Amino acid sequence: MTATRVDAEVIRRLPKAVLHDHLDGGLRPATVVELADAVGHTLPTTDPDELAAWYFEAANSGDLVRYIATFEHTLAVMQTREGLLRTAEEYVLDLAADGVVYGEVRYAPELNTNGGLMLAEVVETVQEGLAAGMVKAAAAGTPVRVGTLLCGMRMFDRVREAADLAVAFRDAGVVGFDIAGAEDGFPPADHLDAFEHLRRESVPFTIHAGEAHGLPSIHQALQVCGAQRIGHGVRLTEDIVDGKLGRLAGWVRDRRIALEMCPTSNLQTGAATSIAEHPITALKDLGFRVTLNTDNRLVSGTTMTREMSLLVDQADWTVEDLRTVTVNALKSAFIPFDERGALIEDVVLPGYEAAL
Ligand SMILES: [Zn+2]
Repeated sequence: MTATRVDAEVIRRLPKAVLHDHLDGGLRPATVVELADAVGHTLPTTDPDELAAWYFEAANSGDLVRYIATFEHTLAVMQTREGLLRTAEEYVLDLAADGVVYGEVRYAPELNTNGGLMLAEVVETVQEGLAAGMVKAAAAGTPVRVGTLLCGMRMFDRVREAADLAVAFRDAGVVGFDIAGAEDGFPPADHLDAFEHLRRESVPFTIHAGEAHGLPSIHQALQVCGAQRIGHGVRLTEDIVDGKLGRLAGWVRDRRIALEMCPTSNLQTGAATSIAEHPITALKDLGFRVTLNTDNRLVSGTTMTREMSLLVDQADWTVEDLRTVTVNALKSAFIPFDERGALIEDVVLPGYEAAL
C-alpha cells in the first residue's frame, strides 16, 4: 500500500485519541480572563489573545520547572465550584471540536483546594463538568468519551491521598492515576507506598518519566513502581544505539508499554530539539507503542490536529502513521478492553476510511 499524505483539514476530521492532557494546562484564554476577573486574580494581561501568546512565550523557556510555573494563572481560577465546572465542561467540548473521540484528562486535586473545597468535592465537581460536556458534545453530533486520571504532585507529600481518591472514585469516572510536577530530584520510588496501594487495588497508573530525567527515572517507574504506561519517555532513546535496543528499551517495546509522547511540549521544556528529530518518529519506526499527545493545550499553544500536522509536515508522517498512534492510544487506554475495542472498530477505523 502506498503511503497517503494528508492536509490539515482532513487531519482535523480524523478521529483521535489523547492519553496525556492536563486539565489545568488546557483552559481557554478567554475563560481564564473571565474567571480571573470574577475571583480578583491579577493576570499578566486581560486580552485573551495576548494571554495565549504570553503562555506560549513563558513556556518556551527550555526548562521544565519554568514551564510548570506558568500554571499559577490557570490554577488560580480553578479553586471554586464554578471555575471547575466551567473548565471541565469546556475541556470536553474543545476535545470534541478537535476530533478527539477518546481522551484521558489528568489533574492533581490537591492543587484545587485553596478556595476551601475538599479533595473529594474537587473530584466530584470536575466529574460533573466533564459529564455535562460529554452530554453537550454528543448532542452536537461529536461524541467523545473522557476518562479521568488523578495525579499526585511528586514534590509534595499528598501522593498517597491522591491514590486513595483514585481508588474511591474508580467507579465514578476515574480510570487511572499519575504523578506530575518537577521530575528531576523527585524520583517515582519516593511514592512507592502509593503505587503499591494502587497495584493491590488493581487501579492502573502511568508515571511522568524520561522527560527532565533520563533512563533511571523510566526504569524506576516501570520496574520498581510498576507503571503500565510512561508519560513522555523521550529519553528512552538513550538506551538505543544504532538501532540496537538495550534491556530497558527492549522491555518497553516488547511488553507493549505505551509511551505518551508530546512533541511540542518537549520542544518547550528542552527535552527534544525539533519536530523533525523528535524521538517519536524513530521509536514508531522501531515498533514501539508510541502515542501522540498534547500535554497542555493552552500552555503549549497546541491541539491534536496541530501535533498531527506538525509531524506530517516536518517528520514525513503519513495518514497510516496517524492511524497507528491513534489505535495505539486506544489499545493502551485505561478503560475496559471491550470498550477500547469498540472504539477502534466502530469509530476510529471507519473514521479513517471515511476521511480519505
Ligand atoms: Zn504531562
